[in-house]
Amino acid sequence: MQGLMMDMPLLISDLIRHADRHHGSAEIVSRTVEGGMHRYTYRQAHARARRLANALKRLGVAPPERVATLGWNGFRHFEIYYAVAGSGAVIHTINPRLFQEQIVYMANHAEDKAVFFDLTFAPLVEKIAPQLKSVRHFVAMTDRAHMPKERVPNLLCYEELLEAESDELDWPSFDERTAACLCYTSGTTGNPKGSLYSHRSTLLHAYGAALPDSFGLMARDVVLPVVPMFHVNAWGIPYSAALTGSKLVFPGPHLDGKSLYELFETEGVTMSAGVPTVWLGVLNYMRENKLRFSTLTRTLIGGSACPPAMIRTLQEDYGVEVRHGWGMTEMSPLGTVSRLKAKHKDLDKEAKYALQNKVGFPIFGVDTRIVNENGEELPRDGKAFGDLQVRGPWVIREYFKGEGGNPLKKDESGQGWFPTGDVVTIDPDGYVQITDRSKDVIKSGGEWISSIHLENIAIAHPGILEAAVIGVQHPKWDERPIVVAVKRPGHEVSKEELLKFYEGKIAKWWMPDDVVFVAELPHTATGKLSKLTLRQQLKDYRLKAER
Ligand code: AMP
Repeated sequence: MQGLMMDMPLLISDLIRHADRHHGSAEIVSRTVEGGMHRYTYRQAHARARRLANALKRLGVAPPERVATLGWNGFRHFEIYYAVAGSGAVIHTINPRLFQEQIVYMANHAEDKAVFFDLTFAPLVEKIAPQLKSVRHFVAMTDRAHMPKERVPNLLCYEELLEAESDELDWPSFDERTAACLCYTSGTTGNPKGSLYSHRSTLLHAYGAALPDSFGLMARDVVLPVVPMFHVNAWGIPYSAALTGSKLVFPGPHLDGKSLYELFETEGVTMSAGVPTVWLGVLNYMRENKLRFSTLTRTLIGGSACPPAMIRTLQEDYGVEVRHGWGMTEMSPLGTVSRLKAKHKDLDKEAKYALQNKVGFPIFGVDTRIVNENGEELPRDGKAFGDLQVRGPWVIREYFKGEGGNPLKKDESGQGWFPTGDVVTIDPDGYVQITDRSKDVIKSGGEWISSIHLENIAIAHPGILEAAVIGVQHPKWDERPIVVAVKRPGHEVSKEELLKFYEGKIAKWWMPDDVVFVAELPHTATGKLSKLTLRQQLKDYRLKAER
């Protein structure tokens, strides 16, 4: 017997329709690429998204064709999110910080039919346009007065496209499993691979991400996603905010500490989200200028390990609750968020921090398990480390166009699990602790050393701004950890002092063998430490023992 409830597909267009009907006057504020601020409401955003959907039809973009964007977080990008997916086509957000060849590869692989770009990227588009085989239209996301000088073929003006259309449109209804968004993984080796989200997976993720133990979004929130809309849909915030009716604030291209801080204050931001590096910039600016937050209450930090020192500083010195989260492109991206449970109420401060430093327990919609190298499940005792596998309705089952074959691993009952490539422990309460990417794990004398753990200690030293720990060859132990660190401006710290700082905090055999100070550390296109590049940079480095 079937249930007797309405059978309505979960569609992305319903999010913006909902925000319009029930939160129509909630604002969307953007710092624009052209300069200045833009403000309007969900109601106006919805009307313009419908105009854009009509324009896409006129341009001949038909489902399931792909429409690419090279854009910052801003109102036009938001409209494209809804217009493209709402029409039944697929939005392909391209990370403009990737290498040119990778961008060309992805646009051709996705067979993008149109490319919408912010003015910042006009020089890039001019360069790559001749190589983009399938693209019929290039659209500059601006008005006539700001059209770029660069020579781009078949160039259209975004505002003119919208002006020519009416906002009369009924969003089409279709199977909720229809593809909606395509995001490629940055891929440190080989070509990038695409994760193709459906309307269903995107809506379920939007619900999950809005839950109290995730972003915890409410209609009275003002949300500023620092995480870019070109990186896993800004962790789904453009969808979750429409679902909850929260005011949205988009920072545009200005992601430095000063610009972000000013926006937090002038717009009354209550919730934000981004990778740890972004917060380094904000905190530095605030420290130098002796500033406080007046409205920000919480932030989700993830994408790479959030240093415990940063969690402490934000919470104790600035009154902002940190939610340490973990996820990946293949998971839409949210997997786990670190929040406390009722049973933790009376724990002392340090024990609470120990839990917060982990990446938390899974959101309903994601299941986790760890396995050893033979694929056997390991205990959830908080001690055994293994390869983390996940499953759930917003986890991929295969990459776009089947690249790389079937990625899933079967358990004894035949269920497929996605191997994340992260090495973790899971405790009996479900809290996941990431020790490493499997390829970053340091293996010394047959035992594993967690590079993240050692990095976190280095960053807790007041003289250290940023640190990476990598394994280097050792004649006896195979590999030994070394710290590569950037000093905080105006602070002096010696190698000996930093090594002394580790004493009593780790087992003796985890003690780094050396410290190398550098002016800066390499980052990937998504703002994470690039250990691959760092290892290349230090390829001639030899430990004393090796020398
Ligand atoms: P991406 O698909 O580019 O978002 O990268 C996903 C990967 O980032 C994960 O598999 C982890 O290795 C890493 N990552 C994400 N969040 C965290 C975190 N909070 N701590 C440590 N690593 C993280």
